[in-house]
Amino acid sequence: MSGVASVAVSDQGDTDVISARANTRALIEEKKVLLLDMNGTFMFGEDRFGPDEDYAAHYAALGGELPARQVNAAIRAIYAYLDVRYPDEQYRHCFPSVETAIRDLFGQQLVADEVHRIVNTFAFHELGYIPAAYAQALHSLNRRFTLAAIVDIWAPKPLWLREFERAGVVDLFAACSFSSDHGVVKPSPQPFLHLLRELGTQPDQALVVGDSARRDLGGAKAAGIDCVLVGRAEHADAVASFANLLQLCDFVEAPA
Ligand SMILES: [Mg+2]
Repeated sequence: MSGVASVAVSDQGDTDVISARANTRALIEEKKVLLLDMNGTFMFGEDRFGPDEDYAAHYAALGGELPARQVNAAIRAIYAYLDVRYPDEQYRHCFPSVETAIRDLFGQQLVADEVHRIVNTFAFHELGYIPAAYAQALHSLNRRFTLAAIVDIWAPKPLWLREFERAGVVDLFAACSFSSDHGVVKPSPQPFLHLLRELGTQPDQALVVGDSARRDLGGAKAAGIDCVLVGRAEHADAVASFANLLQLCDFVEAPA
């Protein structure tokens, strides 16, 4: 049961499955805008903040001279500071920047150049990559839909824009919302509604695609937008669930 997992269950008859697929197809095809989540949807390998990660290597390459132990401890502390606040509703509309975390944790201990290097090192470890097949899928989807990206990241966006450029997808997005630009994180409906306003689109003309039931589906629902889940996420409120964006793309491209 590849494809529309939320409707195609094994004990239904073939006719029910076919009809559910047709309904899903009709619903998706009437949409004009796709609001795409990034991590786990078209970017992978992100958030390299495991316990054995060596942050000092990238930091040293930027010309930093703080001892490796201090750099590693600083990045771990910043990650922990942000990680505990990310799901906290209290910070949904005022999520702190990496620089705010640094100032809050270390006061004025670090000079501006060091803050810059630590922020850049954090961004480097937060950044993932866009596989070629996913870049191709975005190009295919862009032939049918207006694409927008709705992205939660903690560090400032320049490294992500560079990765969008490297993968050849930067021009595919008619609009992008990066949470580190405005401090509002999903599942707040605000960035979803802001993107729709920017594109002159109504909620019923848009479809959110994401891999998080809480953040993507939650935000979409709060904004009155339908949502398709990708990855391992499934939820009764999703229009459909696909194994990944490539399968959604195949589903859209396949003859009815
Ligand atoms: Mg995601």
